[in-house]
Amino acid sequence: SKQAGVERALAFTPEMDAEATYRHMLEMALRDAVADGTISVLYQPLMDTSGHHVLGVEALARWSDPTLGPVSPEIFIPLAEETGVIQEIGKHVLRSALQDGKMWPHINVAVNVSASQIHHGDVVEVVRDVLNETQFPAQRLEIELTESVLLADEKRANEQMRGLQNLGVKVALDDFGTGYSSLSYLRRFGFDKLKIDRSFIESAGAPQDSTVILASIIKLGQDLDLTITAEGVETEQQRRWLQHSGCHQLQGYLFSRPITADEMTAFLADHAQK
Ligand code: C2E
Ligand code: CA
Ligand code: CA
Ligand code: CA
Repeated sequence: SKQAGVERALAFTPEMDAEATYRHMLEMALRDAVADGTISVLYQPLMDTSGHHVLGVEALARWSDPTLGPVSPEIFIPLAEETGVIQEIGKHVLRSALQDGKMWPHINVAVNVSASQIHHGDVVEVVRDVLNETQFPAQRLEIELTESVLLADEKRANEQMRGLQNLGVKVALDDFGTGYSSLSYLRRFGFDKLKIDRSFIESAGAPQDSTVILASIIKLGQDLDLTITAEGVETEQQRRWLQHSGCHQLQGYLFSRPITADEMTAFLADHAQK
């Protein structure tokens, strides 16, 4: 509760280091962030391999507290997971994304879901409720999960994935290649989509031996009939290599940084098929 938070803050002593103090302030502010309206959502386009057409958008949470300023999602998302606030933030991001997504016909909307939302909440019920509430078509929603979801409780992860897919939603494995998962995970869980982490995309178009791993990941995705997205595409050279690699979708600063819903509406108008 807020009261408990204040009491803990008062019990704080100067000898505690600055980092711990900062973290504690973040934690308390984050607790009220959704209610305070300080969490917003930006969108980054997913392009076809020509780079000309938009196939979807990924919703990315942003937090800017009036006193603390903007805080990176790399900081506040893990904190929200540890404190449980992620349930509320996750629902808020989903609702915002589906409301905004209704302005953009035909393209998909991807929303990130944390492992703790799968294991400590009923993400299927939340997604079903927000789909009903917003009347957004389930077929255009993608849920992005990281492999950490699969490590904890495999049975529950599987049930929740099936539950989402039964709603008509697609499920993507995000950040592929960064953790422990590999082939066996991909086969055991019925993902619809594979997002290759940007650390592998750096090698696209580089001398041949450095692209070996990337090429084998793409081959694996093809063998499993997955839609393959390359993340973190920054150069035209990478795009050109990826275009001929068997990837289906590209995402990265080359096309656009994450932008506001209004900016996305303009971006879509600029990239409409002429
Ligand atoms: P992610 O899901 O892997 O999202 C992609 C991240 O890569 C985003 O960082 C995006 O801005 C960044 N990015 C996109 N293109 C490029 C590029 O060409 N180069 C580089 N260097 N970076 C690129 P962002 O927005 O800071 O988000 C970081 C992470 O925070 C996300 O990684 C995701 O794991 C998490 N996150 C963000 N929003 C949410 C959310 O609503 N819920 C949950 N559970 N996690 C979220
Ligand atoms: Ca993602
Ligand atoms: Ca990712
Ligand atoms: Ca990531």
